[in-house]
Amino acid sequence: MATEPRPESLPLADVRCLSELGEWSAADGASGLWRYRDAIPVDPALGARLSMGEGLTPLIASGQDGVSVKLEFLSPTGSFKDRGAVVLVARALARGAPSLVADSSGNAGSAIAAYAARAGLTCRVFVPEGTSAAKQAQIGAYGATLAVVPGDRTATAQRAWAAVAESGATYASHVYDPYFLQGTRTFAFEIWEQLATAPDALVIPAGNGTLLLGTWIGFSELHAAGLIARMPALVAVQSERCAPLAAAFARGADEPLTVAARPTAAEGIAIPRPARGAEMLAAIRASGGTVVAVPEAAIAPARRDLAARGLLVEPTAAAAWAALGIARELPALGPWAGVESEPWARARSALGGTVVVPLCGSGLKSAE
Ligand SMILES: *Cc1c(COP(=O)(O)O)cnc(C)c1O
Repeated sequence: MATEPRPESLPLADVRCLSELGEWSAADGASGLWRYRDAIPVDPALGARLSMGEGLTPLIASGQDGVSVKLEFLSPTGSFKDRGAVVLVARALARGAPSLVADSSGNAGSAIAAYAARAGLTCRVFVPEGTSAAKQAQIGAYGATLAVVPGDRTATAQRAWAAVAESGATYASHVYDPYFLQGTRTFAFEIWEQLATAPDALVIPAGNGTLLLGTWIGFSELHAAGLIARMPALVAVQSERCAPLAAAFARGADEPLTVAARPTAAEGIAIPRPARGAEMLAAIRASGGTVVAVPEAAIAPARRDLAARGLLVEPTAAAAWAALGIARELPALGPWAGVESEPWARARSALGGTVVVPLCGSGLKSAE
């Protein structure tokens, strides 16, 4: 069996942070996240060639006091994964990658497949069985070869590692390749620009942590540059059916705990063994945040509540809204199971002020 790769540490030392750009202003003529191209460590010409205008998603009022939602589902392939995928594929192209292999619960695979198509690279994507039919169709539509793997998300990753070892393809992994996080950190830069400050807290669905860690890195850079006075609290959201980080947080552990994962509608965060779990737990703790595990029964009402506001998202994205709704006891989302327990009490105090909730994936990606 192919062995697990090690996540490379982030080569942030090679990157010019916003603070080092002097009187920083958006790069001329660059759209979306490429307005931060001076702080993204890939050839901007390659970025421009691959770009579909990803990033710079709207941040709008949610109807809840102090709470804004950031419409990541409007990204070119329908999820925030485009932020990381465009940077990762640009870097792979620059390094002369012959072809790409990715594994994903669906959306990262779609994003990598789309940008691989733009780069003219062939791409194989492994997904776990049970991945939404719409996501499978989307990956295939971009011309990638799709393989559906029995078992959980870890079994899927192992198949991808074996394919990389056999074929010499480049492992285009949103989990292990740090260039993906170079892209997702623009999520923080945009919020800082759109709010003209940092929020008090963010509610981030967390599986492998590419948005959570990107958010943490981005706000850390802004903080180090003296551009924000304090770091926002990160409230990470898992499914109660697959909650290795919530279990670790509750026990004070530094590593994700081993959990028995059960199927959940929140397929995008059903990650039983997150490779960057220790980094995620450290970031959540350092931010003064917490990890909550959302009951399965809360996801469908949260999705309906968002749709009633005109926002159609996939169940994984609705899990973040469910977490906010439980913490704030929103009428449409009651009864608020477990709201008295310690993690929810922490979430409630973190989510009383200004809050940003990303709506990560499009409702058109899920069958119901
Ligand atoms: C990928 C994804 C997540 C979780 O992101 P991680 O990087 O695995 O933490 C959440 N929601 C949606 C819609 C996603 O596509």
